[in-house]
Formats: sequence, structure tokens, C-alpha cells
Amino acid sequence: MSSQIDNHLPHYRVAIIGSGPSGFYAADKLLSYSTPLFEIDMFEKLPLPFGLVRYGVAPDHQKIKSVTKHFERIASHERFRFFGNVEIGKHVRIAQLRQHYHHIIYAVGAQTDRHLNLPGIDSLGSHSATEFVAWYNGHPDFRDLTFDLTQKRAAIVGMGNVAVDVARILCRTPEELAQTDIAEYALEALAKSQVEEVYLFGRRGVAQAAFSPLEIKELGQMPDAEIVVDSSNVQLDPLSQAMLKKANKDTKRNVEIVQSYAGQAKNEKSKRLYLKFLTSPTEILVDQNGRVEAIRLVKNKLIAGDKGRIWANPTDEIDVIPFGLLFRSIGYQGVPIRDVPFDSSRGTFCHHNGRIIEPATQQPKIGEYAVGWIKRGPTGVIGTNRPDAIETVELLVDDIQNGRVHHPPMGSAVEALKMVQTQQPDFVSYEDWCYLDGEEQRRGKIKGRPRIKFTSRQEVLAALKQRTSID
Ligand code: NAP
Repeated sequence: MSSQIDNHLPHYRVAIIGSGPSGFYAADKLLSYSTPLFEIDMFEKLPLPFGLVRYGVAPDHQKIKSVTKHFERIASHERFRFFGNVEIGKHVRIAQLRQHYHHIIYAVGAQTDRHLNLPGIDSLGSHSATEFVAWYNGHPDFRDLTFDLTQKRAAIVGMGNVAVDVARILCRTPEELAQTDIAEYALEALAKSQVEEVYLFGRRGVAQAAFSPLEIKELGQMPDAEIVVDSSNVQLDPLSQAMLKKANKDTKRNVEIVQSYAGQAKNEKSKRLYLKFLTSPTEILVDQNGRVEAIRLVKNKLIAGDKGRIWANPTDEIDVIPFGLLFRSIGYQGVPIRDVPFDSSRGTFCHHNGRIIEPATQQPKIGEYAVGWIKRGPTGVIGTNRPDAIETVELLVDDIQNGRVHHPPMGSAVEALKMVQTQQPDFVSYEDWCYLDGEEQRRGKIKGRPRIKFTSRQEVLAALKQRTSID
């Protein structure tokens, strides 16, 4: 890589931590500059790239996953290297990165879920949606989880797009799932699933739901699952009516779509998907083995809060519904990494518009930046990360122009490579990924699937070893 660089031009070495959309959009913007020139090393703790696109986007949304074609073009750039299976904080410390790179961009996403604080929430059979999503997508750290799919009824708390994804995956037929890149073990487990009823619970009303129109429309188009909506539950109260007048077109469309489902269920399909608004769980009831057995729910009414926000307020209407499986889907949450200032109230790194700051002084940590969910919190779709990453990279370039640059003592690609080889000899390069990608697709083709994913580090390393012995 460094041999391609004209050493007369100013060039800077950037470490991007994380290989999801925000990391790639940051790389894309950096590589678009002809002066200064940037050399990029992207570090990923998992062996394979693309973060949330590979491990978060639902497997039946292959079209959304096709954004990886764009990321692959970026990754094949002569000034870009990928180091998979290298965890910052474990294999390589931030202090070591600062020895080799002018800039560090954190693109680590939001790696856990927001906690739902309820009695019984940690019982057997209660899972976060983030775990289930990572499991069915073949994430190496979640592949060994088990979900009791012998249960007939599952509850999902939350009315966002992740909750909708989980509901859809539970309601798809084995034939539909077999056309996706869902992990093989998840396909097998879901093919035997006995779940017949899925309930989605939103604490506020239909006009305040966080899903998007395309996603809620898709729920109504499943071949073997029908939506059940009670019309009295989706009639708008005066607060929501007033809000809807000023709402954006997506919110209006959400209301229209959900109201069109009301009273339409014909009980002709194998599975039923209940949308329940204005309902909150208050307690998870457990059996003598500590397993989820039922959920106590309270009916809410909407009240006006500060700054035009509409809140859910509990009434005294209580219901108890038997459930054997529960998914909490109330949003993702960022996690700290060692030596980077973390704002635990927001679940993001401490920053100003993407420049990492020291909380005590509010001064920037020269050379360190954030993009994506660890910068703005877990909101928006994949494309939202593009302007977000551009904003941060423009600040980084502005810092260079104004002399606010960290100068690493060892500033060459060769030295950085040596450091990685020493710290993690089992790193996965972009060329390795290209081989593994081909293998996944080849394995998929045999079974008429887009790909069959590698789902463990051992599998990945064994496949690479086998390639080397064939070569
Ligand atoms: P989200 O959009 O923030 O939705 C979270 C849901 O949880 C909301 O309905 C929220 O209700 C509810 N909630 C929060 N705290 C709660 C509590 N204590 N009790 C009950 N309910 C609670 O989060 P997400 O679904 O995890 O999605 C994350 C981001 O990824 C979103 O931007 C989403 O659009 C995006 N995404 C997009 C797609 C897609 O485009 N296909 C797919 C998946 C995810 P309130 O509104 O009342 O707080």
C-alpha cells in the first residue's frame, strides 16, 4: 500500500475501529480527498466485515444487505486495509494505535440493548431482541444461545423496526427463511418452531410507533401469518389527532396502514401477529423453574409532556397473558471501550459533533473521532450514517488544516502491519474475506440460498488454513 503513495504529498494514517456502515462511509469520504491523502486501516473484532449489515439487518432483507457491494469497492481501494479478528482493547490497545496512526475513528456502533427494568425480566425465556437478532444472523458471540421455540406464544416489547424484524422472523415459514442467508442452525431451529402467536406491545399509541411504513406494510403481506389489530386500540385520542396534523408523512402512513389492518383478521393462516398499542408490561411472572410463564400488562393512556412530547401513563386496567417466550426490543445501547471517554447517560462516547472530548476539560482529544451509533445513539437507517460520517471526516480535515494533529512516532503502513502481526497473528485480511465470501456463496448455491455463513472464528480460521494448504 505505502509504495503507491507519493511521499511528497501530505498523507495521514487513519485507524477506523469497526467495519459497519458508519466505518465504511467514513473511509469512503477520507478516500475521496486527493489532498491530504489518507491511508486507512480498518479494525474489526469479528473475523468478517460489515457489522450491523451482516449481523443486524434481517436475513429476509437481502436488498438492504446489497449495500455491501459499495463497501467492497471501498475496501478494494489501494489505500485501504482490513484487519478482521483484531479486538481493540484486547489484541491492540488505543495507546498502541496512537503510536502508529495520526487519527483514530471509532465506528463501534451500539453493541448491547437498553435494559428494561421489571420484576422477573431476567428469568429464563426472557431475551433481548439484540441477542435473538445476532443469533439468527450467525454472530460468532451469539451462535450458541438457545431460544425455547416449543412455546406457542411469544411477546415482543417495543414498537420499533427491530421488534418488527423479530416478529417477522418468528412468523416466516421455513420455506421463506430458506431463501435467505439466515444462519443454518437458526434455520433448523425455526423450521421446528411451534410459535403460533406473536404479540407486539407498544407503550404509546399507533401514532407514536417507531417502525417505518415499509416495515409495517411488509408485516401484512406474510403468506402464512395474519395481523390482528383491535380497531378500538388504534383509534386516535385527541392528543394524537393534533400531533398527526403536524406529523411527517411516515407517521401518517404508519397510522393509515395499521388502521387498515383493524378488524381484518380472518383466522385463515397458521400464525397470528397481534399489534397491541398503549400497553406496557409491569411484571414477568415465572413458574417454579424460574421460566417466564405470563406477563402482567397495564393499559396506558396518553398525556402531554414537556416540549410537545406525548407520554404513556398507566391506567388501572390490568391484564395477565400467558407467554413462554419474551423479547425485549426497546433500543440498542453503546458500550464503553477502555481509554475512550464514555457518556453513560447517553450511551455514546463523549464528543462534540464527532470530535472525542475529555469530559473534565471539554477539550478535544487530538486525533480521535466518532461516527455512527456510538456518536449519535442508535437511531436512523443505514443511509443516515453517510452524512453523519461525512460531518466527522470534514472536522478531521479541518483539524489538519488548523494544525490540530497527533503525530505518531511510527508512521508507516509496514510498521503498523508488523504491530498487528505481532499482536494478533490470526488476523483476517480483505483478501481473506474475498475468499471466504466466495466460499459462503458457493456453499449457499448448493442449497439454493444466497450464502451459508461462517458463524464461528474457528470455522473461519479453518477455512483459511484449508485454502493455504490447497494453494
Ligand atoms: P427504536 O426505533 O428506538 O424503537 C424502540 C421502541 O422501544 C419504541 O417503540 C419505544 O417506545 C420502545 N421503548 C423504549 N423504551 C421502552 C420501555 N421502557 N418500555 C416499553 N417500550 C419502550 O429502536 P430499534 O427498534 O431497536 O431500532 C434501532 C434503529 O435501527 C432505529 O433507527 C430503526 O429504525 C433502525 N432499524 C431499521 C430497520 C429497517 O430500516 N428495516 C430495521 C431495524 C432497525 P417509545 O417511542 O414510547 O419510547
